[in-house]
Amino acid sequence: MDKNAFLERAREGAELIKMHVELEHTIRIISHRDADGITAGAILAKAVAREGGKFHLSIIKQVSEELIRELREEDYRIYVFSDLGSGSLNLIREHLGDRTVIIADHHPPEDGELPDGHVLVNPVPFGANSVRDLSGSGVAYFIAREINRKNRDLSYLALVGAVGDMQENDGVFHGMNLDIIEDGKALSIVEVRKELRLFGRESRPLYQMLAYATNPELPEITGDERKAIEWLRSKGFDPDVKYWQLREEEKKRLHDLLVIHLLKHGATKEDVDRLIGDVVLITIYPEGDPRHEAREFATLLNATGRLNAGTLGVAVCFGDENAFKRALKLVEDYKREQIEARKYLIQNWESLLWEGEHVYVLYAGKAIKDTLVGIAASMAINAGLADPEKPVIVLADSEENEELMKGSARTTERALAKGYHLGEALRKAAEILGGEGGGHAIAAGIRFPKDKLEEFQELIDRLLGEQVGAHGDKGRG
Ligand code: C5P
Ligand code: C5P
Ligand code: ZN
Repeated sequence: MDKNAFLERAREGAELIKMHVELEHTIRIISHRDADGITAGAILAKAVAREGGKFHLSIIKQVSEELIRELREEDYRIYVFSDLGSGSLNLIREHLGDRTVIIADHHPPEDGELPDGHVLVNPVPFGANSVRDLSGSGVAYFIAREINRKNRDLSYLALVGAVGDMQENDGVFHGMNLDIIEDGKALSIVEVRKELRLFGRESRPLYQMLAYATNPELPEITGDERKAIEWLRSKGFDPDVKYWQLREEEKKRLHDLLVIHLLKHGATKEDVDRLIGDVVLITIYPEGDPRHEAREFATLLNATGRLNAGTLGVAVCFGDENAFKRALKLVEDYKREQIEARKYLIQNWESLLWEGEHVYVLYAGKAIKDTLVGIAASMAINAGLADPEKPVIVLADSEENEELMKGSARTTERALAKGYHLGEALRKAAEILGGEGGGHAIAAGIRFPKDKLEEFQELIDRLLGEQVGAHGDKGRG
């Protein structure tokens, strides 16, 4: 990607923010409700506060026309959208055309002209892969760094967002994420080690870290605490110690044994590669604190976001200890619900599944929360329920609107190689059905009227089919 051109754009955004701070305008920040969005919002808010500016920050689930209309009524001079907005450039132009707008995002942007005063800071048009090379928090970080070099001490928050978005899903970091790591290392606040990339390094006993492994799964261990305990004991490990408490040589022995376990059960090379890989440690927090490791930190933030308590997550990012204690309580439920969602999927996959030539669609009604459908779709792939070369969509009733259902689509690099682009397909499907859809090639979301499920199934199968058809033609021509 063209890094310098991207950084030039980040500088433009930074200059606008600084100018409005000097004019004593409140900086209106709107950010996404997941770990990436929460850290992005926190980074921007902190950068503004450090310049002596005022901010008004909201953490939201998605952009809608209604939201943009409300923002217009608020009458601020400058709006900063982070980890969202690129799919709504035209809507933003239509309603906020007379304001200064900065869109700090990493989603593939929709086509459309930007009016004067609107700046898109997005690495995708400069050649970046939206799910590998930079997250929303990373974009926010580079803007903050252009506002003031001293904001490099926020690099760890950018990495928490990156890990929350699974930017290192294949086991290593890529693209401009590497520059953020360098900044964090230079200030001695971040360390990246080759370790076990599973949730629970700081706060879970080993047997839980293994029994809750979903990305990748550990065959015959995932989902079964008793088996995890037996396996660990048989290899001479105390199941109740935590990973961070192991000596370096014990960690190595555990890694080797787990890799052998995967290979013995016929795991793919991809799964082996991402089991042991880059783990981000944040040294301003002590070992054993969930904030010491980026995946646990991100999970804490995701647990706040889905309960509409995203600003609690922002307070955690600011280092607030009370907010941290409250957030800790939310994680238990969040993890338990994930385990239940996995069980539900395994038990109901066959009976509830609609399968097309190009897609699996599973409608879970109210059995899975609409905030967990993305994780559920990933789980269906990782648990081996779905062929990894065929996209999965899990749908559930929308929690805020009885008339709508919310769906999440997930797939793998192997499927993308065939030509699928889930974000494009869901955007088109939403346009046709009346709803909102979009996102990345590998991960995308949609909301549409509940009574259109059957229509949706046929439609999305056709749209995805057209993508591989078009791809195949290109390949031959
Ligand atoms: O909105 P946003 O960009 O924050 O979300 C990115 C989404 O993409 C996350 O839900 C993340 O889990 C998903 N993802 C994925 N597979 C990857 C990379 C990201 O499902 N390889
Ligand atoms: O909602 P879900 O987690 O499944 O979304 C997957 C990805 O698609 C996220 O990056 C999300 O921000 C994006 N998305 C989008 N437009 C929508 C719905 C989801 O860009 N209408
Ligand atoms: Zn993101």
